[in-house]
Amino acid sequence: MDYSIPQIDCKDTVSEQEWHTRIELAAAYRLMVMHGWDDLIHTHISARIPGTEDLLINAFGLTFEEVTASNLVKIDIDGNVIDKNTPFGINPAGFTIHSAVHKARPDDQCCFHLHNTDAIAIASLENGLQPYSQYSAFALASMSYHQYEGLAVEPAEEKRLQDDLGNANFMLLRNHGALTMGVTIGDAFMHMYDLIMACEIQVKMQRSSDIKISVDQRIIDGIKAQASIVHTGQTGGQKTWPAMLRRVKRVFPDFDQ
Ligand SMILES: [Zn+2]
Ligand SMILES: [Zn+2]
Repeated sequence: MDYSIPQIDCKDTVSEQEWHTRIELAAAYRLMVMHGWDDLIHTHISARIPGTEDLLINAFGLTFEEVTASNLVKIDIDGNVIDKNTPFGINPAGFTIHSAVHKARPDDQCCFHLHNTDAIAIASLENGLQPYSQYSAFALASMSYHQYEGLAVEPAEEKRLQDDLGNANFMLLRNHGALTMGVTIGDAFMHMYDLIMACEIQVKMQRSSDIKISVDQRIIDGIKAQASIVHTGQTGGQKTWPAMLRRVKRVFPDFDQ
């Protein structure tokens, strides 16, 4: 039985812009492994190649620690594979969520979609995320929810998903998972980090019968008013994201191949 995967190198055949996006997106997948946020071969992070309408996404069937800059698959907005030479395919049913949100949000480069268990737990509580931490305040300033409608996203659900998302950067998918958007890959990562931290803290707190102390709504409204915090690439792109790239390089030296 040969269970190895094809090793490919596309560095010299793609634009500098595309290669840069591939490195950052591969790093995002490796970060999911490092945080324990991956789900076997499932879930996705998708990113638009700046200056184009083309997207990059993981090859279906690979674990996230197998994702490299070169084996990410280039697709159009409808999920058709553009790469002529890739031996890999994508999960078309899984891509429908990403297709819907990228169509609705052309200014956002990246969409994280995960199945973190604490996020699913909070997503599936009627009252959803509560203002129990600073992380939750960031998320609640730009929050949305989407009802579970089954595995495949039909065209009618695509519209409902887009309407539910609106301008929000954070979405809890009822019974299903978490989704974040960002103008850069680093921003979408930081949003997912905030959302998962908020959900983990809430799950811990709900184990206690003690009275819960909430962040004041005025503080959340204040964060909402500071649109720059959630909408202009200031969350991940400044200091944290380069540090995350260095961390990935130390732990997974092959990710940028
Ligand atoms: Zn999912
Ligand atoms: Zn997905």
